Parts: sequence; structure tokens; C-alpha cells
Amino acid sequence: MAALSKLIVKKAKSRVSSKHVPLRTCIACRKTGPKQALVRLVLTPEGAVTVDAGRKLAGRGVYLCRETLCWEKGVSEKTLSHAFRTGISRECLAGLRGHMGELFGDSLREGGK
Ligand SMILES: [Zn+2]
Repeated sequence: MAALSKLIVKKAKSRVSSKHVPLRTCIACRKTGPKQALVRLVLTPEGAVTVDAGRKLAGRGVYLCRETLCWEKGVSEKTLSHAFRTGISRECLAGLRGHMGELFGDSLREGGK
């Protein structure tokens, strides 16, 4: 676990040269990491939860590490409804799971291409 957070810090340092790196907390593992290393999920005004790929959607946002384990734990009705303090529809969960497949497709699928 300690090794993993070290890795995240190293990555951030090599990418961002500014002194101040905004930190965000992953809703699944509660670890903090630089904003750029986390995936933002946003609750739209329509009440749907979606991945904010362009980081420009308005609404309440939560963050998940780019880790399969965090997504498996985080993309659940319990975790998301707690994080957003609202009910999460099955459609939203299905959509997020679909995005998870895109994000981690290479590691989730055996053999890949
Ligand atoms: Zn995490």
C-alpha cells in the first residue's frame, strides 16, 4: 500500500512541475492523489452520474483512482449513493461499468487483441 502511494506521487511529480498539486480523495479507497491521476465522476442536474472525461461538466463531483479495484468497489450503489448523497439508478451504474470496461479494457480482458 505504501509503495502504491509512493508511485502515485512519483507520477505526479514527473508530470506536473508546479509546486502546488491539488489533491482529491478516492471514494473507494479514501487515498488522496493529484487531481490528474484520478477520474472525476459527476452528478448531472438530471440526477445521472457520468464520467467527466473532459473535466468540464458542472455538478457535484467525486473521484476514483485509475485502479480496477477502486472502480469495482466504487461503482456500486452503496458507495456512489453515499458519496453523492442521492440514489443511483441502475442505468447509471451500467453506464459507469461500461466506462470501466473502456478504461481498464486491456487489463480486464484476457489476451486483449
Ligand atoms: Zn482508490
